[in-house]
Amino acid sequence: MGAEAMTVRLPRSVAYEVTYRCNHRCLFCSCPWYAPESRYHCGNELDVEQWNRVTDLLIEKGVVSFSISGGEALMKEGLIDILSHIHRRLDEHQLKSPIVLISNGRLVNEQWLRAFHDLGVHLSMSLPGYSTFKFHTGVDNADGVLEMFRQAKAIGLTTTANITVTKQNLHELFETASIALINGAGSILLNRFLPGGRGLSNIDQLLLSRQEINEMLSVCEEVLALANRYGNVGTEIPLCVIDNPDSLRHLHVGYRCAAAKGFFVVDPSGQLRTCNHSPHVVGHVFSEPMISDVQYWNMFQNSDFKPSVCKGCDDILRCDCGCREVANILCGDPTAADNSIF
Ligand code: SF4
Ligand code: SF4
Ligand code: SF4
Repeated sequence: MGAEAMTVRLPRSVAYEVTYRCNHRCLFCSCPWYAPESRYHCGNELDVEQWNRVTDLLIEKGVVSFSISGGEALMKEGLIDILSHIHRRLDEHQLKSPIVLISNGRLVNEQWLRAFHDLGVHLSMSLPGYSTFKFHTGVDNADGVLEMFRQAKAIGLTTTANITVTKQNLHELFETASIALINGAGSILLNRFLPGGRGLSNIDQLLLSRQEINEMLSVCEEVLALANRYGNVGTEIPLCVIDNPDSLRHLHVGYRCAAAKGFFVVDPSGQLRTCNHSPHVVGHVFSEPMISDVQYWNMFQNSDFKPSVCKGCDDILRCDCGCREVANILCGDPTAADNSIF
């Protein structure tokens, strides 16, 4: 192993994308393999035995927290065996973190909810609007998702409503967040629409302006305050874009990019990326060393990507200027300004 490769550390959290397949066609989907004219290489999906080996390998390397998505995770054959293995290994190592499962909700039913409950899963289901659900996803299932939030609450399964906010559903964000909480969702995860994947074809109709981003934050804060609940924004926002950060008491906004520092991604065929949003493959989980593009990895791990527009800013240590992968996707350079905002 070269000296350069030895500097690589794995974050303590991993996101498994267990399948490339999905039964929705979301306009905002950022999966890199759905990008127009994508050159993303989709290999053969790992089977259950291979995913279980990945879990053993990563726990040995210090990973303690797992999230599962896709595509649509529930379309993966043997998903329950993959979850059971993670649950067993976490238990053996006395690790208490829940397995976060991100789903569009379409295949969720009572049996899945009970299995998730028994396996220590926290379920995050997507609700990108109520009246605009079908427009955004291609499928008319908002009521189905709400029913699953109700049933999950009834059996004590913890949940999050994952709301991707676009220009087309901002007008109903108050209602969307409210009905999610009223129907049993435990918390809210807001994601502003970020260009990437299929979303690259829909930027004009989906991308929020700065003013709309602030509206998104204040509306969600209002709902959470009324309900006495808490939520997070999953897609980083530049600090200087937010009009009044101190007013956000129930909504936590991240300003730092967590890719390759807080978490990393294993794609359906075992390829590694810094973030779900990233189309850039940096290695493979069964290679030794795992990370082959050390330069790219280390740029994220060491935050060596501060845009020149931020030079001299007093907040530079606590703000990474929005999404670094969006800067790369839109400008071909992770050290450029986040062009989805600036
Ligand atoms: S955003 Fe999720 S549910 Fe929608 S198409 Fe993409 S992977 Fe499927
Ligand atoms: S670091 Fe850049 S994006 Fe963040 S607050 Fe400063 S100028 Fe704005
Ligand atoms: S690349 Fe960084 S800023 Fe962008 S979505 Fe991923 S973690 Fe967030």
